[in-house]
Amino acid sequence: MIIVLAKDISPHDTEMVRLYLKGRGFTVRDQAFGDTALLGASGKGQADIHELSLLPGVERVAATSKPYELVSRETKIEDSIVSVGPVKIGGARITVIAGPCAVESREQIVETAARVRESGAVMLRGGAYKPRTSPYAFQGLGMAGLEYMKAAGEMYGMPIVTEVVSTELADRMKDLTDMFQIGARNMQNFELLKKVGSLGKPVLLKRGPSATIEEWLLSAEYLLAAGTSDVVLCERGIRTFETYTRNTLDISAIPVVKALSHLPVIVDPSHAVGIRDKVAPAALAAIAAGADGLTVEVHPNPDAALSDGPQSLYPAQFESLMRDIEALSPVVGKELLRTPNVDVIASAGTGGGSVELGTERIAFSGESGAFAEQALIRAFGEEAMRLQTDSFKAVFDAVLDGSAAFGVIPLENSLAGSIHENYDLLIRYPDIAIVGEIKLRIVHSLITSEKASWDSIKVVRSHPQGFAQCRDFLAEHPGWRLETWNNTASAVLSIAEETDEDTLLSVAAIASESAAKVPAAKMPAAKGQGLKVLKSGIETDPRNYTRFVILSRKHGDWVQVPPSMGKQTPDKASLVFSVKDEPGSLYRCLKILSEEGINLSKLESRPILGQPWNYMFYVDVSIPKSGDVFENALAKLKAQTEKFYSLGCYRASL
Ligand code: PEP
Ligand code: MN
Repeated sequence: MIIVLAKDISPHDTEMVRLYLKGRGFTVRDQAFGDTALLGASGKGQADIHELSLLPGVERVAATSKPYELVSRETKIEDSIVSVGPVKIGGARITVIAGPCAVESREQIVETAARVRESGAVMLRGGAYKPRTSPYAFQGLGMAGLEYMKAAGEMYGMPIVTEVVSTELADRMKDLTDMFQIGARNMQNFELLKKVGSLGKPVLLKRGPSATIEEWLLSAEYLLAAGTSDVVLCERGIRTFETYTRNTLDISAIPVVKALSHLPVIVDPSHAVGIRDKVAPAALAAIAAGADGLTVEVHPNPDAALSDGPQSLYPAQFESLMRDIEALSPVVGKELLRTPNVDVIASAGTGGGSVELGTERIAFSGESGAFAEQALIRAFGEEAMRLQTDSFKAVFDAVLDGSAAFGVIPLENSLAGSIHENYDLLIRYPDIAIVGEIKLRIVHSLITSEKASWDSIKVVRSHPQGFAQCRDFLAEHPGWRLETWNNTASAVLSIAEETDEDTLLSVAAIASESAAKVPAAKMPAAKGQGLKVLKSGIETDPRNYTRFVILSRKHGDWVQVPPSMGKQTPDKASLVFSVKDEPGSLYRCLKILSEEGINLSKLESRPILGQPWNYMFYVDVSIPKSGDVFENALAKLKAQTEKFYSLGCYRASL
């Protein structure tokens, strides 16, 4: 049993809780999870959990039914996010680690780092000490290998992860590696787990080839109990009767472990299958099953590799896998992390230079749990300071007056079309530019109070986009009255805050499932009603995506871009223009783009306000790689148009 203590508990109250437990026959341990203090109670004692949870300074009692405690979701409900330098593992991102099986030479690890970094890997892997089945096989370069790998990691801005095989080596390696790997063969080397867990470094814990999920989680418990809170689990295939593949990738372990534990889970498809051309399908299956990332063996010349050549990907295969992962990630509600969050921000689009990002806020419109907030988290991470506003215009105002460094707004939905209000605002605020794009898969749910049922619903609240995207579902319930709200999450909040019993039974909201997790503080204390998801996935088509854009303020030619996008050259621009009312005027504009080899990904027309039958054209175009082509095309386009607005140049999201 774990007793989670309040942050402000006094030493006296802590002592009282300790005495309470000891008095009832428990052995008590002091433990911590990050900056949260815990008391662990084990043994044959018996206590009234309710009474225990009411003691002063006790925040929560997690009486887990499992033999592992610190690792359990019952102890920590939210996902843990593990930081390895600037790289984060867990939450809304997919983190990919890549590198050779073993470090073979300085040149080999540097070249591999360059190649995998180019394709978007954010961490470098490689063995310096190799636990090999045969004593005559290559055993690794030892400390020299680790030195080479550290240098390669520093060269390309990638934290490194390497296997530690003994307690003595752990001390010698700790200043050279960013993350320790406990290999499959050592998963139950308990002295090693205790030692590595006490060193304060993040740990990647591989699953033993014959370990059950419970044994694996108990090994993670050893690491947490020894003091570290940064543990990532790695499924790498288990021993079964099947011999075609090297091991059998236990795909089902991913959702199982994610439900049992708060720790991030990544997958090693290379050791799981052991056959090069089976690595990519296994990797994609792992992402689809909910893995938080991958560790993949890549070698610049696999045929000459000193170990695991047959399962090592060629760099070009890794590049192709990364592109597939990028396309798959939004389907599972995640984003591929391609750049670690660096502090320096480069310029966007038209200029060059850099600006520092401090602890500035990012504005979005809506309540907590709104889709815009999910998009914000994708682009800036869970820790990003947020500024909640109640309208899209307020987001623009906050970016303009500097109270927010960036803003996140929706621009277009794949089912319901453009959000014209935001296109209009982009034109009205010429000092604000689009600097980034995020595509979010939108899954709508019907949310009600816990007491409501299908029969009691009379009114449905949502944003008009929510209604538009769930048209088929709403058509099945013609009796329901639709009530328009500013955004989907505020519609949910209105139910959480409702105090009238009858209304409570009759209202439902259409929003994301995460909006149903309204913080307890917002519930009226007297009622404290919970919310429930009556039905999930009510959007008309599951391929429902919203394109959000990131806004930033222009300073002359300069514009600040988000850290995660700082190193990427823009490849997409959004333009708006009107043309003369005469034959061929639009054709002449499109001809310019065509002649310059510029691809058009969107073309939409809309009547100009107050000028019936005159149209504004909304165009998204690709930016060719070669220097002046785009600038020249824009100059020609400007000359052909009446009104012309460039809304921003940014990196397209797949
Ligand atoms: C490795 O990742 O280099 C390795 C040896 O893997 P495992 O311990 O899973 O066999
Ligand atoms: Mn290997």
